[in-house]
Amino acid sequence: GELKLKDPSLIAIAGFIDNEYIRDAYSGKKFSVYDPSKGTEIAKFPDMGIDEADQAIRAAKRALPGWSQMTAKERSNILRKWYNLILDNEEDLAKILTWENGKTLTEALGEVRYGASFIEWFAEEAKRLYGEVIPSPSRQQRMITIRQPLGVVGIITPWNFPNAMLTRKFGAALAAGCTVIAKPASETPLSALALCELGKRAGLPKGVIGVVTTHGHTKAIGKHLCESLDISGISFTGSTVVGKLLLKQCADTVKKVSLELGGNAAFIIFEDADIDKAVDAKFRSSGQTCICVNRFYVHSSIKDKFSARLQEKVRSFKVGSGFDKKTTHGPLINSAAVEKVRTHVDDAIRQGAKMLTGDDEKNGIGSMHGYFYPPTVLTDMKEGMKMADEETFGPVAGIFTFDTEDEVLEAANNTRFGLAGYFFSRDISRCWRVAEKLQVGMVGVNTGSISSEVAPFGGVKESGLGREGARQGLDEYTEYKYINMAV
Ligand code: ADP
Repeated sequence: GELKLKDPSLIAIAGFIDNEYIRDAYSGKKFSVYDPSKGTEIAKFPDMGIDEADQAIRAAKRALPGWSQMTAKERSNILRKWYNLILDNEEDLAKILTWENGKTLTEALGEVRYGASFIEWFAEEAKRLYGEVIPSPSRQQRMITIRQPLGVVGIITPWNFPNAMLTRKFGAALAAGCTVIAKPASETPLSALALCELGKRAGLPKGVIGVVTTHGHTKAIGKHLCESLDISGISFTGSTVVGKLLLKQCADTVKKVSLELGGNAAFIIFEDADIDKAVDAKFRSSGQTCICVNRFYVHSSIKDKFSARLQEKVRSFKVGSGFDKKTTHGPLINSAAVEKVRTHVDDAIRQGAKMLTGDDEKNGIGSMHGYFYPPTVLTDMKEGMKMADEETFGPVAGIFTFDTEDEVLEAANNTRFGLAGYFFSRDISRCWRVAEKLQVGMVGVNTGSISSEVAPFGGVKESGLGREGARQGLDEYTEYKYINMAV
Protein backbone atom coordinates (compact mmCIF):
# COMPACT_ATOMS: atom_id res chain seq x y z
CA GLY A 1 0.00 0.00 0.00
CA GLU A 2 0.92 3.65 0.38
CA LEU A 3 2.45 3.13 3.82
CA LYS A 4 6.22 3.67 3.78
CA LEU A 5 7.94 1.49 6.37
CA LYS A 6 11.58 0.86 7.14
CA ASP A 7 10.71 -2.80 7.29
CA PRO A 8 7.75 -3.60 5.00
CA SER A 9 7.83 -7.25 6.11
CA LEU A 10 6.05 -6.13 9.30
CA ILE A 11 2.89 -5.98 7.24
CA ALA A 12 1.31 -9.40 6.90
CA ILE A 13 -2.18 -9.76 5.48
CA ALA A 14 -2.75 -13.13 7.06
CA GLY A 15 -3.54 -15.16 10.12
CA PHE A 16 -0.64 -16.66 12.11
CA ILE A 17 -0.52 -20.30 13.19
CA ASP A 18 2.57 -22.33 14.18
CA ASN A 19 4.79 -19.36 13.24
CA GLU A 20 3.44 -19.52 9.67
CA TYR A 21 1.36 -16.95 7.85
CA ILE A 22 -1.96 -18.25 6.62
CA ARG A 23 -2.97 -15.99 3.76
CA ASP A 24 -6.14 -17.72 2.67
CA ALA A 25 -9.03 -18.97 4.73
CA TYR A 26 -10.45 -22.43 4.03
CA SER A 27 -13.67 -20.68 3.12
CA GLY A 28 -11.80 -18.61 0.53
CA LYS A 29 -13.54 -15.54 1.99
CA LYS A 30 -11.90 -12.22 2.85
CA PHE A 31 -12.89 -9.22 4.92
CA SER A 32 -11.83 -5.62 4.41
CA VAL A 33 -9.88 -3.37 6.74
CA TYR A 34 -10.35 0.37 6.25
CA ASP A 35 -8.37 3.55 6.83
CA PRO A 36 -10.77 5.46 9.09
CA SER A 37 -9.38 8.84 8.06
CA LYS A 38 -10.45 8.26 4.46
CA GLY A 39 -12.98 5.45 4.58
CA THR A 40 -10.91 3.59 1.97
CA GLU A 41 -9.86 -0.07 2.01
CA ILE A 42 -6.37 -0.94 3.27
CA ALA A 43 -6.33 -4.69 2.91
CA LYS A 44 -8.40 -7.84 2.58
CA PHE A 45 -7.73 -10.34 5.35
CA PRO A 46 -8.59 -14.05 5.34
CA ASP A 47 -11.96 -14.50 7.01
CA MET A 48 -11.10 -17.54 9.09
CA GLY A 49 -13.58 -19.94 10.63
CA ILE A 50 -13.83 -22.81 13.12
CA ASP A 51 -11.40 -24.98 11.13
CA GLU A 52 -8.62 -22.45 11.45
CA ALA A 53 -9.51 -21.79 15.09
CA ASP A 54 -9.12 -25.53 15.72
CA GLN A 55 -5.82 -25.58 13.87
CA ALA A 56 -4.61 -22.72 16.09
CA ILE A 57 -5.84 -24.47 19.24
CA ARG A 58 -4.00 -27.65 18.28
CA ALA A 59 -0.83 -25.67 17.60
CA ALA A 60 -1.06 -23.92 20.98
CA LYS A 61 -1.72 -27.24 22.70
CA ARG A 62 1.31 -28.86 21.06
CA ALA A 63 3.47 -25.90 22.10
CA LEU A 64 2.30 -25.89 25.72
CA PRO A 65 4.54 -28.60 27.27
CA GLY A 66 7.73 -27.17 25.78
CA TRP A 67 6.90 -23.57 26.63
CA SER A 68 5.63 -24.19 30.14
CA GLN A 69 8.58 -26.43 31.00
CA MET A 70 11.17 -23.89 29.95
CA THR A 71 12.74 -22.16 32.90
CA ALA A 72 11.24 -18.81 33.78
CA LYS A 73 14.53 -17.24 32.81
CA GLU A 74 14.46 -18.79 29.36
CA ARG A 75 10.95 -17.44 28.78
CA SER A 76 12.02 -14.12 30.21
CA ASN A 77 14.92 -13.86 27.78
CA ILE A 78 12.66 -14.38 24.77
CA LEU A 79 10.14 -11.83 26.06
CA ARG A 80 12.97 -9.36 26.63
CA LYS A 81 14.14 -9.83 23.02
CA TRP A 82 10.59 -9.28 21.83
CA TYR A 83 10.42 -6.07 23.86
CA ASN A 84 13.67 -4.81 22.32
CA LEU A 85 12.47 -5.64 18.81
CA ILE A 86 9.21 -3.77 19.39
CA LEU A 87 11.15 -0.68 20.44
CA ASP A 88 13.59 -1.05 17.52
CA ASN A 89 10.59 -1.01 15.20
CA GLU A 90 8.43 1.46 17.10
CA GLU A 91 8.05 3.92 14.23
CA ASP A 92 6.85 1.29 11.79
CA LEU A 93 4.51 -0.18 14.38
CA ALA A 94 3.10 3.28 15.08
CA LYS A 95 2.47 3.92 11.38
CA ILE A 96 0.70 0.59 11.00
CA LEU A 97 -1.42 1.44 14.04
CA THR A 98 -2.36 4.91 12.75
CA TRP A 99 -3.19 3.45 9.37
CA GLU A 100 -5.76 0.98 10.66
CA ASN A 101 -7.02 2.79 13.77
CA GLY A 102 -6.80 6.48 12.85
CA LYS A 103 -5.24 7.81 16.05
CA THR A 104 -2.43 10.34 15.60
CA LEU A 105 1.13 9.12 15.06
CA THR A 106 2.09 10.63 18.40
CA GLU A 107 -0.68 8.71 20.13
CA ALA A 108 0.23 5.58 18.19
CA LEU A 109 3.87 5.83 19.19
CA GLY A 110 2.76 6.31 22.78
CA GLU A 111 0.65 3.17 22.52
CA VAL A 112 3.47 1.12 21.00
CA ARG A 113 5.77 2.09 23.87
CA TYR A 114 3.04 1.50 26.42
CA GLY A 115 2.34 -1.85 24.78
CA ALA A 116 6.02 -2.78 24.82
CA SER A 117 6.22 -1.94 28.51
CA PHE A 118 3.95 -4.90 29.29
CA ILE A 119 6.29 -7.31 27.51
CA GLU A 120 9.22 -5.83 29.44
CA TRP A 121 7.34 -5.90 32.74
CA PHE A 122 6.25 -9.51 32.38
CA ALA A 123 9.70 -10.56 31.15
CA GLU A 124 10.83 -9.39 34.59
CA GLU A 125 7.86 -10.74 36.55
CA ALA A 126 8.26 -14.16 34.92
CA LYS A 127 11.26 -14.72 37.18
CA ARG A 128 9.33 -13.81 40.32
CA LEU A 129 6.39 -16.16 40.12
CA TYR A 130 6.93 -17.33 43.67
CA GLY A 131 5.07 -20.03 45.51
CA GLU A 132 5.18 -20.18 49.29
CA VAL A 133 5.96 -22.37 52.25
CA ILE A 134 3.08 -22.27 54.73
CA PRO A 135 3.87 -22.72 58.44
CA SER A 136 2.10 -26.00 59.04
CA PRO A 137 -0.21 -26.53 62.01
CA SER A 138 0.81 -30.21 62.00
CA ARG A 139 4.19 -31.69 62.98
CA GLN A 140 3.68 -34.46 60.45
CA GLN A 141 2.92 -32.33 57.41
CA ARG A 142 4.71 -29.74 55.33
CA MET A 143 2.68 -27.36 53.20
CA ILE A 144 3.75 -25.50 50.12
CA THR A 145 2.19 -23.83 47.11
CA ILE A 146 3.54 -23.68 43.59
CA ARG A 147 2.12 -21.65 40.73
CA GLN A 148 1.38 -23.27 37.42
CA PRO A 149 0.21 -21.93 34.07
CA LEU A 150 -3.47 -22.24 33.21
CA GLY A 151 -2.74 -23.86 29.86
CA VAL A 152 -3.93 -22.63 26.48
CA VAL A 153 -5.63 -19.24 26.70
CA GLY A 154 -8.00 -17.58 24.24
CA ILE A 155 -7.57 -13.84 23.83
CA ILE A 156 -10.08 -11.44 22.25
CA THR A 157 -9.17 -7.78 21.86
CA PRO A 158 -10.76 -4.53 20.62
CA TRP A 159 -9.69 -1.97 18.01
CA ASN A 160 -9.12 1.04 20.30
CA PHE A 161 -5.66 -0.14 21.41
CA PRO A 162 -4.75 -2.68 18.71
CA ASN A 163 -1.22 -3.11 20.03
CA ALA A 164 -1.31 -2.60 23.81
CA MET A 165 -4.43 -4.66 24.54
CA LEU A 166 -2.67 -7.63 22.98
CA THR A 167 0.74 -7.15 24.58
CA ARG A 168 -0.85 -6.73 28.01
CA LYS A 169 -2.36 -10.20 27.64
CA PHE A 170 0.47 -11.83 25.66
CA GLY A 171 3.09 -10.66 28.15
CA ALA A 172 1.30 -12.00 31.21
CA ALA A 173 0.16 -15.25 29.60
CA LEU A 174 3.54 -16.10 28.12
CA ALA A 175 5.45 -15.18 31.26
CA ALA A 176 3.22 -17.54 33.22
CA GLY A 177 3.96 -20.37 30.77
CA CYS A 178 0.64 -20.34 28.90
CA THR A 179 0.32 -20.49 25.13
CA VAL A 180 -2.30 -18.32 23.42
CA ILE A 181 -4.68 -17.93 20.53
CA ALA A 182 -5.66 -14.36 19.82
CA LYS A 183 -8.57 -13.02 17.86
CA PRO A 184 -7.92 -9.32 17.27
CA ALA A 185 -10.69 -6.93 16.30
CA SER A 186 -11.49 -7.22 12.61
CA GLU A 187 -11.06 -3.43 12.27
CA THR A 188 -7.38 -3.61 13.34
CA PRO A 189 -5.63 -6.93 12.62
CA LEU A 190 -2.43 -5.41 11.18
CA SER A 191 -0.87 -4.45 14.52
CA ALA A 192 -1.47 -7.98 15.80
CA LEU A 193 0.32 -9.54 12.86
CA ALA A 194 3.25 -7.14 13.15
CA LEU A 195 3.63 -8.21 16.79
CA CYS A 196 3.64 -11.86 15.71
CA GLU A 197 6.42 -11.24 13.19
CA LEU A 198 8.57 -9.64 15.88
CA GLY A 199 7.69 -12.41 18.35
CA LYS A 200 8.85 -14.99 15.84
CA ARG A 201 12.13 -13.09 15.34
CA ALA A 202 12.55 -12.92 19.12
CA GLY A 203 12.49 -16.70 19.23
CA LEU A 204 8.97 -17.57 20.33
CA PRO A 205 8.67 -21.27 19.49
CA LYS A 206 6.05 -22.47 17.01
CA GLY A 207 2.51 -22.40 18.37
CA VAL A 208 3.17 -20.24 21.43
CA ILE A 209 1.17 -17.40 19.93
CA GLY A 210 -1.45 -17.78 17.23
CA VAL A 211 -3.69 -15.20 15.59
CA VAL A 212 -6.98 -16.03 13.94
CA THR A 213 -8.34 -13.24 11.75
CA THR A 214 -12.06 -13.17 11.22
CA HIS A 215 -15.01 -10.94 10.66
CA GLY A 216 -17.82 -13.21 9.48
CA HIS A 217 -17.16 -15.90 12.11
CA THR A 218 -16.48 -13.71 15.13
CA LYS A 219 -19.43 -15.02 17.15
CA ALA A 220 -18.86 -18.64 16.21
CA ILE A 221 -15.13 -18.53 16.97
CA GLY A 222 -15.78 -16.70 20.25
CA LYS A 223 -18.22 -19.42 21.29
CA HIS A 224 -15.85 -22.14 20.14
CA LEU A 225 -12.94 -20.76 22.19
CA CYS A 226 -15.20 -20.51 25.26
CA GLU A 227 -16.50 -24.05 24.91
CA SER A 228 -13.30 -25.80 23.85
CA LEU A 229 -12.01 -28.40 26.30
CA ASP A 230 -8.48 -27.61 25.15
CA ILE A 231 -8.66 -24.01 26.34
CA SER A 232 -8.35 -23.21 30.02
CA GLY A 233 -8.92 -19.48 30.13
CA ILE A 234 -10.39 -16.57 28.21
CA SER A 235 -9.13 -13.04 28.43
CA PHE A 236 -11.31 -10.41 26.81
CA THR A 237 -11.23 -6.64 26.43
CA GLY A 238 -14.24 -5.05 24.80
CA SER A 239 -17.88 -4.22 25.30
CA THR A 240 -19.88 -5.25 28.34
CA VAL A 241 -22.49 -7.01 26.18
CA VAL A 242 -19.91 -9.28 24.56
CA GLY A 243 -18.07 -9.81 27.87
CA LYS A 244 -21.25 -11.07 29.51
CA LEU A 245 -21.92 -13.40 26.60
CA LEU A 246 -18.40 -14.86 26.83
CA LEU A 247 -18.74 -15.32 30.60
CA LYS A 248 -21.97 -17.29 30.07
CA GLN A 249 -20.42 -19.36 27.31
CA CYS A 250 -17.52 -20.25 29.62
CA ALA A 251 -19.81 -21.55 32.38
CA ASP A 252 -20.13 -25.11 31.11
CA THR A 253 -16.40 -25.72 31.03
CA VAL A 254 -15.78 -23.59 34.17
CA LYS A 255 -13.04 -21.54 32.55
CA LYS A 256 -11.12 -18.82 34.23
CA VAL A 257 -12.38 -15.61 32.62
CA SER A 258 -10.68 -12.26 32.69
CA LEU A 259 -12.73 -9.29 31.46
CA GLU A 260 -11.96 -5.63 30.84
CA LEU A 261 -15.25 -4.07 29.86
CA GLY A 262 -16.92 -0.69 29.50
CA GLY A 263 -16.13 2.38 31.54
CA ASN A 264 -18.19 5.60 31.62
CA ALA A 265 -15.76 7.29 33.99
CA ALA A 266 -16.81 10.23 36.13
CA PHE A 267 -14.49 13.17 36.50
CA ILE A 268 -15.23 15.29 39.54
CA ILE A 269 -13.89 18.79 39.93
CA PHE A 270 -14.34 20.07 43.47
CA GLU A 271 -14.41 23.77 44.26
CA ASP A 272 -10.79 23.72 45.47
CA ALA A 273 -9.40 22.03 42.33
CA ASP A 274 -6.57 23.17 40.07
CA ILE A 275 -8.80 23.89 37.06
CA ASP A 276 -6.06 24.07 34.42
CA LYS A 277 -4.73 20.64 35.31
CA ALA A 278 -8.24 19.25 35.30
CA VAL A 279 -9.01 20.57 31.81
CA ASP A 280 -6.08 18.75 30.23
CA ALA A 281 -7.35 15.30 31.11
CA LYS A 282 -9.91 14.45 28.41
CA PHE A 283 -9.91 13.76 24.68
CA ARG A 284 -7.13 11.20 24.40
CA SER A 285 -7.59 9.03 21.27
CA SER A 286 -10.63 11.13 20.37
CA GLY A 287 -12.36 9.81 23.47
CA GLN A 288 -12.17 6.20 22.36
CA THR A 289 -10.55 4.79 25.45
CA CYS A 290 -12.49 2.82 28.00
CA ILE A 291 -11.00 4.78 30.89
CA CYS A 292 -11.83 8.09 29.24
CA VAL A 293 -14.04 10.69 30.80
CA ASN A 294 -17.62 11.02 29.66
CA ARG A 295 -19.08 12.78 32.63
CA PHE A 296 -17.63 15.90 34.13
CA TYR A 297 -19.13 16.77 37.52
CA VAL A 298 -18.17 20.34 38.29
CA HIS A 299 -18.91 22.15 41.53
CA SER A 300 -21.54 24.80 40.76
CA SER A 301 -19.34 27.61 42.10
CA ILE A 302 -16.69 27.03 39.40
CA LYS A 303 -18.90 25.81 36.56
CA ASP A 304 -18.55 28.90 34.37
CA LYS A 305 -14.81 29.14 34.82
CA PHE A 306 -14.31 25.45 34.10
CA SER A 307 -16.61 25.43 31.07
CA ALA A 308 -14.86 28.45 29.58
CA ARG A 309 -11.42 26.84 30.00
CA LEU A 310 -12.59 23.55 28.56
CA GLN A 311 -14.21 25.30 25.61
CA GLU A 312 -11.00 27.23 24.93
CA LYS A 313 -8.98 24.02 25.05
CA VAL A 314 -11.35 22.16 22.74
CA ARG A 315 -11.40 25.00 20.20
CA SER A 316 -7.61 24.66 19.90
CA PHE A 317 -7.92 21.06 18.69
CA LYS A 318 -7.28 20.18 15.08
CA VAL A 319 -9.23 17.24 13.73
CA GLY A 320 -7.79 15.34 10.78
CA SER A 321 -5.73 12.41 9.54
CA GLY A 322 -3.51 10.88 12.16
CA PHE A 323 -0.58 11.14 9.73
CA ASP A 324 -0.89 14.94 9.54
CA LYS A 325 1.49 16.51 12.06
CA LYS A 326 -0.95 19.31 12.87
CA THR A 327 -3.70 16.89 13.85
CA THR A 328 -4.45 16.62 17.54
CA HIS A 329 -7.51 14.41 17.08
CA GLY A 330 -7.93 11.65 14.54
CA PRO A 331 -11.13 10.06 13.26
CA LEU A 332 -13.38 7.62 15.08
CA ILE A 333 -13.08 3.99 14.06
CA ASN A 334 -16.10 3.75 11.72
CA SER A 335 -19.38 5.33 10.74
CA ALA A 336 -21.31 3.43 13.42
CA ALA A 337 -19.09 5.04 16.07
CA VAL A 338 -19.84 8.48 14.62
CA GLU A 339 -23.57 7.69 14.62
CA LYS A 340 -23.45 6.59 18.26
CA VAL A 341 -21.80 9.82 19.37
CA ARG A 342 -24.27 11.83 17.33
CA THR A 343 -27.20 9.98 18.92
CA HIS A 344 -25.83 10.67 22.40
CA VAL A 345 -25.30 14.36 21.68
CA ASP A 346 -28.74 14.75 20.04
CA ASP A 347 -30.36 12.99 22.99
CA ALA A 348 -28.65 15.33 25.46
CA ILE A 349 -29.68 18.41 23.49
CA ARG A 350 -33.26 17.21 23.20
CA GLN A 351 -33.32 16.91 26.98
CA GLY A 352 -32.00 20.42 27.55
CA ALA A 353 -28.20 20.27 27.30
CA LYS A 354 -26.45 23.24 25.66
CA MET A 355 -23.61 22.89 23.15
CA LEU A 356 -20.70 25.18 23.99
CA THR A 357 -18.57 24.04 21.10
CA GLY A 358 -18.73 21.28 18.56
CA ASP A 359 -20.32 22.37 15.31
CA ASP A 360 -18.80 20.83 12.18
CA GLU A 361 -18.05 24.02 10.24
CA LYS A 362 -15.62 25.49 12.74
CA ASN A 363 -13.60 22.31 12.83
CA GLY A 364 -13.65 22.12 9.04
CA ILE A 365 -14.64 18.49 9.08
CA GLY A 366 -17.90 18.86 7.15
CA SER A 367 -16.06 18.20 3.90
CA MET A 368 -13.77 15.41 5.14
CA HIS A 369 -14.41 11.85 4.00
CA GLY A 370 -13.29 9.85 7.02
CA TYR A 371 -15.20 9.01 10.19
CA PHE A 372 -14.82 12.30 12.00
CA TYR A 373 -16.73 13.84 14.87
CA PRO A 374 -15.92 17.30 16.18
CA PRO A 375 -14.67 17.57 19.76
CA THR A 376 -17.74 18.74 21.63
CA VAL A 377 -18.54 20.29 24.98
CA LEU A 378 -22.05 20.14 26.41
CA THR A 379 -23.28 21.83 29.58
CA ASP A 380 -26.48 21.57 31.60
CA MET A 381 -26.30 17.80 31.53
CA LYS A 382 -28.82 15.83 33.59
CA GLU A 383 -29.22 12.29 34.88
CA GLY A 384 -31.40 10.29 32.50
CA MET A 385 -29.52 11.38 29.41
CA LYS A 386 -27.77 8.58 27.46
CA MET A 387 -24.39 10.12 28.19
CA ALA A 388 -25.06 9.85 31.91
CA ASP A 389 -25.10 6.07 31.94
CA GLU A 390 -23.81 4.71 28.64
CA GLU A 391 -20.34 4.87 27.13
CA THR A 392 -20.25 7.53 24.45
CA PHE A 393 -16.80 6.51 23.20
CA GLY A 394 -16.23 9.76 21.40
CA PRO A 395 -14.74 13.23 21.81
CA VAL A 396 -17.59 14.61 23.87
CA ALA A 397 -17.50 16.10 27.34
CA GLY A 398 -20.78 16.55 29.15
CA ILE A 399 -20.77 18.90 32.12
CA PHE A 400 -23.02 18.18 35.11
CA THR A 401 -22.99 20.37 38.21
CA PHE A 402 -23.20 19.49 41.89
CA ASP A 403 -23.17 21.19 45.30
CA THR A 404 -22.16 18.60 47.89
CA GLU A 405 -19.68 15.73 48.12
CA ASP A 406 -22.41 13.23 49.01
CA GLU A 407 -24.52 14.30 46.09
CA VAL A 408 -21.71 13.95 43.56
CA LEU A 409 -20.60 10.57 44.91
CA GLU A 410 -24.14 9.29 44.57
CA ALA A 411 -24.33 10.53 40.98
CA ALA A 412 -20.88 9.20 40.06
CA ASN A 413 -21.66 5.77 41.51
CA ASN A 414 -25.13 5.60 39.99
CA THR A 415 -24.05 3.34 37.14
CA ARG A 416 -23.47 -0.38 36.60
CA PHE A 417 -20.00 0.47 35.31
CA GLY A 418 -17.01 0.73 37.65
CA LEU A 419 -13.75 0.96 35.75
CA ALA A 420 -12.06 4.27 36.51
CA GLY A 421 -12.95 7.48 38.32
CA TYR A 422 -11.11 10.76 38.60
CA PHE A 423 -11.35 13.77 40.83
CA PHE A 424 -9.54 17.01 41.51
CA SER A 425 -9.29 18.52 44.98
CA ARG A 426 -6.59 19.90 47.24
CA ASP A 427 -8.21 18.78 50.50
CA ILE A 428 -6.29 15.72 51.72
CA SER A 429 -9.13 14.37 53.87
CA ARG A 430 -11.54 14.63 51.01
CA CYS A 431 -9.04 12.92 48.70
CA TRP A 432 -8.97 9.85 50.94
CA ARG A 433 -12.73 9.86 51.49
CA VAL A 434 -13.67 10.17 47.84
CA ALA A 435 -10.99 7.74 46.61
CA GLU A 436 -12.38 5.12 49.00
CA LYS A 437 -16.02 5.76 48.16
CA LEU A 438 -15.86 5.77 44.37
CA GLN A 439 -17.12 2.39 43.16
CA VAL A 440 -14.39 1.74 40.61
CA GLY A 441 -11.25 -0.35 40.15
CA MET A 442 -8.96 2.62 39.52
CA VAL A 443 -8.92 6.17 40.82
CA GLY A 444 -7.01 9.19 39.52
CA VAL A 445 -6.58 11.91 42.15
CA ASN A 446 -5.53 15.19 40.56
CA THR A 447 -4.58 13.36 37.39
CA GLY A 448 -6.35 11.99 34.35
CA SER A 449 -3.57 9.67 33.35
CA ILE A 450 -3.35 6.49 35.40
CA SER A 451 -2.41 3.64 33.06
CA SER A 452 0.91 1.96 33.75
CA GLU A 453 2.30 -1.53 33.28
CA VAL A 454 3.30 -1.61 36.95
CA ALA A 455 -0.22 -0.90 38.28
CA PRO A 456 -3.23 -3.25 38.31
CA PHE A 457 -5.72 -2.26 35.61
CA GLY A 458 -9.30 -3.45 35.96
CA GLY A 459 -12.82 -2.70 37.03
CA VAL A 460 -15.57 -3.56 39.50
CA LYS A 461 -19.31 -4.09 38.96
CA GLU A 462 -20.03 -4.75 35.28
CA SER A 463 -16.73 -3.27 34.16
CA GLY A 464 -14.91 -6.51 34.53
CA LEU A 465 -13.18 -9.35 36.33
CA GLY A 466 -9.50 -9.59 37.15
CA ARG A 467 -6.57 -7.23 36.77
CA GLU A 468 -4.03 -6.71 34.02
CA GLY A 469 -0.46 -5.48 34.31
CA ALA A 470 1.27 -5.26 37.69
CA ARG A 471 2.18 -8.21 39.89
CA GLN A 472 -1.52 -9.14 39.92
CA GLY A 473 -1.59 -9.56 36.13
CA LEU A 474 -0.04 -13.03 36.44
CA ASP A 475 -2.90 -14.23 38.64
CA GLU A 476 -5.19 -14.38 35.59
CA TYR A 477 -2.91 -16.91 33.89
CA THR A 478 -1.86 -19.10 36.80
CA GLU A 479 -3.36 -21.45 39.33
CA TYR A 480 -1.99 -22.09 42.78
CA LYS A 481 -1.27 -25.72 43.49
CA TYR A 482 -1.16 -26.64 47.16
CA ILE A 483 1.10 -29.55 48.01
CA ASN A 484 0.92 -31.27 51.38
CA MET A 485 3.83 -33.57 52.15
CA ALA A 486 3.70 -35.87 55.12
CA VAL A 487 7.07 -36.38 56.80
P1 ADP B 1 -16.24 -2.75 20.40
O1 ADP B 1 -17.44 -1.90 20.67
O2 ADP B 1 -14.98 -2.27 21.01
O3 ADP B 1 -16.10 -3.16 18.97
P2 ADP B 1 -16.81 -5.50 20.96
O4 ADP B 1 -17.03 -6.11 22.29
O5 ADP B 1 -17.89 -5.62 19.95
O6 ADP B 1 -16.50 -4.00 21.29
O7 ADP B 1 -15.48 -6.01 20.32
C1 ADP B 1 -14.34 -6.38 21.04
C2 ADP B 1 -13.78 -7.67 20.47
O8 ADP B 1 -14.76 -8.69 20.65
C3 ADP B 1 -13.51 -7.62 18.98
O9 ADP B 1 -12.38 -8.43 18.72
C4 ADP B 1 -14.75 -8.24 18.38
O10 ADP B 1 -14.53 -8.80 17.11
C5 ADP B 1 -15.04 -9.32 19.41
N1 ADP B 1 -16.43 -9.79 19.44
C6 ADP B 1 -17.55 -9.13 19.12
N2 ADP B 1 -18.63 -9.92 19.29
C7 ADP B 1 -18.18 -11.11 19.73
C8 ADP B 1 -18.79 -12.36 20.10
N3 ADP B 1 -20.10 -12.54 20.05
N4 ADP B 1 -17.98 -13.36 20.51
C9 ADP B 1 -16.64 -13.19 20.57
N5 ADP B 1 -16.02 -12.06 20.25
C10 ADP B 1 -16.76 -11.02 19.83
